[in-house]
Amino acid sequence: MGKACAIGVDFGGTRIKLGLVDAGGRVFRRGLRSTPRGAGWEAILDEIAAGVSELADEGLVPGMTLLGVGLGTPGPLDPAGEHVLLAPNIPGWEGIPLRRLLAERLGREVRLENDANAAALGEYWVGAGRGARTLIFLGLGTGVGGGIVLDGRLWRGAHGAGAELGHVTLDPAGEVCGCGNRGCLEMLCAAPAIVRGARRALDAGRAGGLARLVGGEGGQPLTAELVARAARAGDADAAAVYAEAGRWLGVAVASFMNIFDPEVVVIGGGVAGSVELLLPSLREEACRRSFEVIHRNVAIVPAELGDDAGVVGAAAPFFIDGKEHEAWH
Ligand SMILES: [Zn+2]
Repeated sequence: MGKACAIGVDFGGTRIKLGLVDAGGRVFRRGLRSTPRGAGWEAILDEIAAGVSELADEGLVPGMTLLGVGLGTPGPLDPAGEHVLLAPNIPGWEGIPLRRLLAERLGREVRLENDANAAALGEYWVGAGRGARTLIFLGLGTGVGGGIVLDGRLWRGAHGAGAELGHVTLDPAGEVCGCGNRGCLEMLCAAPAIVRGARRALDAGRAGGLARLVGGEGGQPLTAELVARAARAGDADAAAVYAEAGRWLGVAVASFMNIFDPEVVVIGGGVAGSVELLLPSLREEACRRSFEVIHRNVAIVPAELGDDAGVVGAAAPFFIDGKEHEAWH
């Protein structure tokens, strides 16, 4: 067998990211497609299959062996890893035999994984958690994804829906979350929470540095990224919005630390470029609220794989050998 590689696919509501991944976890060729929103699940499946075929045609050279294709997708999976149980943002995606249909289209072995679990596995394999055996991953974006690796194995829970760390309740009387519950972690620290916090500061006549970016000629839309830019440029009120989100994250992370006693907690996702703004208050709160015997030995660190985490993690099960690639069931 020549040089072994696998294709990882990180599928989301707007983009389909693809990568050819080698046995060392390096992405040596990438692909990117737009998700055909509203066109139905078959169109999405066709787009994923076309992306995989194109990447294989362009990137595989004689002597390489493609072990298979890993697909990371939003939503919890059934315990057998055949279909998605719940996908509120992708109409029609629930319940179709995704793994089998994609394997038939491609004529290759296909493995499914939840997208946040895949990112956790990527960071565990070759990212910020390499060398650890027990890892907690939080991916911050429009929501908060979670992934848990216990003793070298991804933990999915009894029904495939576990590790939804973004939906632990922190404020019982808080705002209603997309999941129907009130006061979930993701309502307090994901990108929309950053934007809401910044809006409150602006409405109160504070965050002058941010106000200059948002208002007037050439004013930009208020996004979490813009708030981060104002914070880095010295706007203390914008920085306080991130620090507040970091404190809420720290409250949750303290509980995760006391439950799982991990070696490493990795903070990634789309807001991860702003992790340095969250990290000081996150660490302080997490340490203050957890057992000393745990927090003195835990590393709370930014993710290292950036945008590649989902792609690398989707491909990882083809390389992580022995029992390690099997999830806890
Ligand atoms: Zn929720």
